[in-house]
Amino acid sequence: MTRIHHLNCGTLHAPPNPAASCHCLLLEDANGLALVDTGIGLHDVRAPLERIGQPLIDMAGFQFHEGQTAVRRIEALGFRAADVKHVVLTHADPDHTGGLADFPHATVHVSEEERAALARGHWRYLQVHFAHGPNWKTYPASSGVWFGMEERRVELGLAADVLLVPLFGHTLGHCGVAVRQGGRWALHVGDAYYLRVELERDDHPVSALTAQRADDNAQRLETLGRLRRLARDHADEIDVFGYHDFTEFPAAP
Ligand SMILES: [Zn+2]
Repeated sequence: MTRIHHLNCGTLHAPPNPAASCHCLLLEDANGLALVDTGIGLHDVRAPLERIGQPLIDMAGFQFHEGQTAVRRIEALGFRAADVKHVVLTHADPDHTGGLADFPHATVHVSEEERAALARGHWRYLQVHFAHGPNWKTYPASSGVWFGMEERRVELGLAADVLLVPLFGHTLGHCGVAVRQGGRWALHVGDAYYLRVELERDDHPVSALTAQRADDNAQRLETLGRLRRLARDHADEIDVFGYHDFTEFPAAP
């Protein structure tokens, strides 16, 4: 069975917003390792001004801790960076892609729409994070359906089923990543919400930030409505969590 490690691969803190995590997943089985999102990377930690730039550091509250980078987290688990053969990206925002260059030989799996927005030079992405020339694999729209939502099957060669689930709005190609582990699904919703409270309320102060950062806010709200129904109707089958809410890390066993 594929094991899921939950790793915090970076911290963002821009008061008055609460500190935010970079909740990445490491999928491990006998066939290899795959990383879901990559957090703040070693190159960012070593050259933050050149890579991220002061305005974005201040706006998003980037913190730089080498021990939190995905590569160091993975080494602490006893693996090598070269063991990571695949990276799946929810989307290409800078706090999700900083670690990509630490796994330069990994195949990078992403929706076709997200890759297209990046290739067009959309303002929100940091091209320096992709300067090493990732080996992309993109996924177009599919007719597959997962709990009433579109699914795009990702080929990682792992025992577990891994799906990209379009959750558009935050960015034009933003997807969740669903992983089946035994009889349950883990659904990483990326930045479809910033804090879990957004599944319950519309009037939390963070909702204004989530709305402001969305490429298409109407689409984001439609996605959020679908996630609310999914979390409500299928709590017994699906664990839903996002990228930035520290409270969503599973308790240590
Ligand atoms: Zn983010």
